[in-house]
Amino acid sequence: MRIIRSIRWLQTWRRQQNNKNVRIGFVPTMGALHEGHLSLIRQARKHCQNVIVSIFVNPLQFGPAEDLSRYPRPVKSDEALCREAGVDLLFRPSGAEFYPKNFQTSVTVNQLSQRWEGEARPTHFEGVTTVVTKLLCQVRPNQAYFGQKDYQQLLVVKQLVQDLNIDTRIVRCPTIRETDGLALSSRNRYLSESQRTQAASLSTALKQGVQTIKQGETHVRIIQNSMQKILRKNSGVKVEYLAVCDAETLEPLTMVKGQVVLLGALQIGNIRLIDNLLVRHAG
Ligand code: AMP
Repeated sequence: MRIIRSIRWLQTWRRQQNNKNVRIGFVPTMGALHEGHLSLIRQARKHCQNVIVSIFVNPLQFGPAEDLSRYPRPVKSDEALCREAGVDLLFRPSGAEFYPKNFQTSVTVNQLSQRWEGEARPTHFEGVTTVVTKLLCQVRPNQAYFGQKDYQQLLVVKQLVQDLNIDTRIVRCPTIRETDGLALSSRNRYLSESQRTQAASLSTALKQGVQTIKQGETHVRIIQNSMQKILRKNSGVKVEYLAVCDAETLEPLTMVKGQVVLLGALQIGNIRLIDNLLVRHAG
């Protein structure tokens, strides 16, 4: 596995791939790798001869009161995990390399970035779309792999690739969970033992929502009530949103029709957790 820290070297490496006729698969991450990230890498490994992973804790996607400085950065173990997973190239730039002093460009996806995570974290998606655009422009992969875990992010990235005619296919990978349903996340390591138990209630509530829809319920207020009932049992949990939305536009619905996504965000102490489930109404 090669480790590259400079954009110049990445560009040189990329030029060398031009005539090789190999498929390039790309997995952008912020590190602190877990089974969720590794599942994306395995998917890329299956489809592509050349697998690139980036690890970059992107300051632009953190709000001023968020956890940028304490975000975990286990550099050596991340490198070892990438090596074990058969990654060909690890791109691990520094902040100064990626955003030099005079950096002043940003990329915005307007509508899809507005609601839900966009409302809770006003500068977040602009940070994500700027970093992803910059990475895709350098790596120019055939396919890039994103987790359904961050569903709104996935849609925003798809939109950006479509709008800017970037020649990369965005592949959605399923959410990897603990046995009790909690979606894996680099932030789970901040949870205390009692918070960890409460954290699982988010996926339990979303599953309840899916169940209610599968039983034929179409009224969103009733579906939301069925989910809220589960979360009300957990006193330490603050619900930020629990929404039933169109799976493509993320607009909130009052009646369920076709494919919908249930989106949830919780706060436990000062830790934010998000999760989602897709479900198709049978009617
Ligand atoms: P992050 O390092 O949090 O920026 O995540 C990098 C990529 O891994 C994103 O595409 C995430 O959606 C994906 N990811 C994070 N957690 C999971 C998970 N539990 N299952 C599947 N993909 C995940």
